[in-house]
Amino acid sequence: MYRCDICSEELADQQAGTAYARERILSSPGYWEHFLRDSTDPFYAEIFTDRATALAVQQMITSHSGFLVCAKCNRMLSDDQQKVADYRLEKWYSVLQSPSAKGKAGLEAVLIIVGTVYERLSGKWPAWIDAKDKSTRDKQWVDGT
Ligand SMILES: [Zn+2]
Repeated sequence: MYRCDICSEELADQQAGTAYARERILSSPGYWEHFLRDSTDPFYAEIFTDRATALAVQQMITSHSGFLVCAKCNRMLSDDQQKVADYRLEKWYSVLQSPSAKGKAGLEAVLIIVGTVYERLSGKWPAWIDAKDKSTRDKQWVDGT
């Protein structure tokens, strides 16, 4: 049986889903908004502690499998270009689309995307992502390096 790797919706067969490389999903602000929505909601603060959220994000980042995505979640990903522009994440989005996305540069890019989405949803940079990554982002935002 096939399920959507984002919302767990059951898929009739493999063809009913759209297959994506992992980097495409990890670079998606729309995906991270979905992933972090409950974690940044004060109502769920006791369930989604910083530690639990950090572990879930780490698990997602270090997983090596691709994603099979249902039609509904596919729509969620379709306005990513706009979101990348809104969040001013063009640099890190493009790092993740390039073949050199593996390794340290790719990890930093994902953490900056995750941190930026979390910051937008909660009003603060997550305590579980190094403040150095925020500085790297802010510096790029200011002087483009
Ligand atoms: Zn789905």
